[in-house]
Amino acid sequence: MSRQTTIGVFALSQKFIKLLLPLPALFQIQMSSDEEPHVFPVIPDTHDIPCPLCEKKTILHSKKRRRFRHGHAWGVGTLWMKLDVPRQRCLSCDLTFVYDYGLGLVRTSTEVFRKGITERCHGRTISDVAREYELPYTTVERWFYQYASAEIKKHTKHILVDEFATRKGHHYATIVLDAKNGRLLSVVPGRDVASITAALQGVLGDVRSVVSDFAPAMAKAVTSVFPDATHVLDRFHLIQFFTDALRRRRRFLNEARRHHHVRVIDRALACRPEVLALEDREVARSCLLEDSFTRNLYQGLQHIRYVLKATCDMQANRRLTDWLERFQFHPCGPLAKIAKAISGRKEAMRQTIVSALSNGKMEGTNNKIKLIKRRAYGYRNLERFFLRLRLELGR
Ligand SMILES: [Zn+2]
Repeated sequence: MSRQTTIGVFALSQKFIKLLLPLPALFQIQMSSDEEPHVFPVIPDTHDIPCPLCEKKTILHSKKRRRFRHGHAWGVGTLWMKLDVPRQRCLSCDLTFVYDYGLGLVRTSTEVFRKGITERCHGRTISDVAREYELPYTTVERWFYQYASAEIKKHTKHILVDEFATRKGHHYATIVLDAKNGRLLSVVPGRDVASITAALQGVLGDVRSVVSDFAPAMAKAVTSVFPDATHVLDRFHLIQFFTDALRRRRRFLNEARRHHHVRVIDRALACRPEVLALEDREVARSCLLEDSFTRNLYQGLQHIRYVLKATCDMQANRRLTDWLERFQFHPCGPLAKIAKAISGRKEAMRQTIVSALSNGKMEGTNNKIKLIKRRAYGYRNLERFFLRLRLELGR
């Protein structure tokens, strides 16, 4: 934008400038000059400045005219303000100090500006922001982690807890989300009972229900931290038991079925038959005819889907009992194993069936975490990674 237009824009009104340069009403903003259209002289209110030590009267010792970045306008760039920064001297205790009018003046920027830049880093890389505002990368980085406060609301009633990899196959962390809005409540390195307990303890409020996977460590931590809360198991992980078992069996049989793409088989067996295309349904049927082991797993999966569709307590109870009776001592190994896991957690399973809560938000968040991790090409500083997660998922 040319200088003429810039001046034209700012000449519009004092009100507009006040919007771009947010300052307390005590400050009077003047027009910028033709030579420096981005620099606005600011005249502070000359009120009495008390001594920070004894709160007694001070007098002006000296003053220095300085410039500070304070705002930003689209298509214009950084807006500066120019003001006299006074150095005051206390009449009683002789202390001399610089007075910054509460603007948080550091070097050549005000706190408003630094916070504004920090906010722009949400959902973008720091280097991207640094380039756009023509600031050194390290400066923006420092501001970001300085103002990235943990002022995140932690009170909630329904929570989700899960683990995610900070380094796949090596390091894991436990994460707790608000079940309603997916807001991040707490994140702690590790995935053992102690870590999960610590993560859950970071959540405040009257927690009524907790959604987690089937891991025994989860159950232990949940009952110790929230003994009165309902523990709901995640449907996603339950279905995963079956689809994983089916996939393992498919790998075992792979040699015989070279003519079908493996993904087609996996999908055909994992999905409900209603949603499949005709040819995929045919693939599923032929797999089931060929191998009784696959057929058993498949029937177990479709039956548990029917169980999960129950709408009331009684119906849930009846369907679950039926399912367990059918598969609890089934000769098909993996199926019996799943049945054993379910029968050990019968109460939680009942809650799972009737509860409207699911870990869906968590699965979406896990994907987001992956993206954040990838965007930064991994984080070596775990603390900063978690801070970043708190910021991006905390609102
Ligand atoms: Zn004093």
